[in-house]
Amino acid sequence: MVEMHTALQHVLAAARPIPGETCSLDQALHRILRSEISAPHDTPPFTKSTVDGYAIRSEDLTGPVATFDVVDQWVAGHRRVRRLGDHEAVRIMTGAELPDGATAVVMQEDATPIVASQSAPPPEDGSPTHEQVVLKGPARNGLNILPQGSIYRRHEIVLPAQRSVAAAEIGLLAELGSTHVDVYRRPRVAILPTGDELVDLGTGLGPGKIYNSNGPMLDALCQESGVITELLATVGDEPSRLQEAVQGSLSQFDVLIVSGGVSVGIKDLVPQTFAQCGVSRVFHGVHMKPGKPLWFGVFESSTRSTDGHRCLVFGLPGNPTSVFVGFQLFVRAALYVLRGLPARSSEPQNDPLSSHDPVRNDPLRRHPLGDIPDMARLVADHEQIIDRPTWLPFRWLYAPQAPDLVALLPTQGSADLLSLSRADGLALFPTRGHYPAGSKVRILRW
Ligand code: AMP
Ligand code: MG
Repeated sequence: MVEMHTALQHVLAAARPIPGETCSLDQALHRILRSEISAPHDTPPFTKSTVDGYAIRSEDLTGPVATFDVVDQWVAGHRRVRRLGDHEAVRIMTGAELPDGATAVVMQEDATPIVASQSAPPPEDGSPTHEQVVLKGPARNGLNILPQGSIYRRHEIVLPAQRSVAAAEIGLLAELGSTHVDVYRRPRVAILPTGDELVDLGTGLGPGKIYNSNGPMLDALCQESGVITELLATVGDEPSRLQEAVQGSLSQFDVLIVSGGVSVGIKDLVPQTFAQCGVSRVFHGVHMKPGKPLWFGVFESSTRSTDGHRCLVFGLPGNPTSVFVGFQLFVRAALYVLRGLPARSSEPQNDPLSSHDPVRNDPLRRHPLGDIPDMARLVADHEQIIDRPTWLPFRWLYAPQAPDLVALLPTQGSADLLSLSRADGLALFPTRGHYPAGSKVRILRW
């Protein structure tokens, strides 16, 4: 039996990122970057206006107002060439490239066009009648201008390796012009439900039977984790069938999750099956509730065809909330690493301006057992009678002045999926004792 933190360390130590592949940008959401990405061009690629208004030389508008000749009109997406002269303005729209010499853009809201009088005589030199505009000043150098390369420069690293790609990263990659990205391959996970009492959905419940709820739930948990799953056919508590199913999965999958049969009952045959199939046990039993009999091991293949193949093997006790907690605490952590996220940042540092932000890039620090977990406060006293770290379901109260307040939900224990489905998360009570209202507790939320 190991402590929860030790179990997590063992799992992380055994997990290795799976080698990579290239995927198209539209398939990149929630994938993990294998290498850092540098910008192939400056952004913005040209100096542009951030408002609709008038581009001018700021030195022409140092006082409260000045009059300018409007010499041209520029819109976004169309390049024109012109150098601004003394008290000349180009009418410019948001996103348009700035004329040479322009050092400020005065917003349209601060401009009063002078409408040329119908009766005014045409200019004597024959040039076309040009409009004038009165602009409100003073205009500082750089007003309403986004200079070329001011967001990032060509060759600058804009995304670190091992960054998870979310919507903003998709936008950024598109801005760089990336059609494909280098990412880690998605782990392949097999789910094997075991137990003589299980019947599959679509068949009637006979005496003593229950539906296999763990299989679909684990499949859903895996899908939430961004991995590829295969829900295998349910196997009864029968040694040769168990061995066949386990053996068949070890060389094909990166992770095998077996539900049921890992405790100390006479039909709990899974640990011996793992041993027979050559899986090396790392630990059996975690000091926690629910989920105490959890089993973890590693299968390493040495045959030529599957050289270097590793399969992480989890045996989760069959009670549904044990399966759920075991997955959330340990399997999910392993999947993070297999998917390509770092197991642990070397140096905790938190520079919000660095693109190498380890906290953002390291969800394991935000793991319920990590060093910056989500926390909640109890709305009422709680008496913990079991001397084992215990996870209990809670609901947020959504109290406007105290958004972190939670209430514990009644539960019938580790078989109670109903309370789990009513819960917003699970709260951890590390030891026996009295937890007064207001106590802060670590939470596992979803
Ligand atoms: P076991 O870990 O095999 O001792 O099972 C513990 C409890 O979980 C028993 O009550 C089983 O009936 C139940 N159980 C095992 N596997 C499943 C499953 N796939 N779906 C729902 N309940 C299960
Ligand atoms: Mg069983």
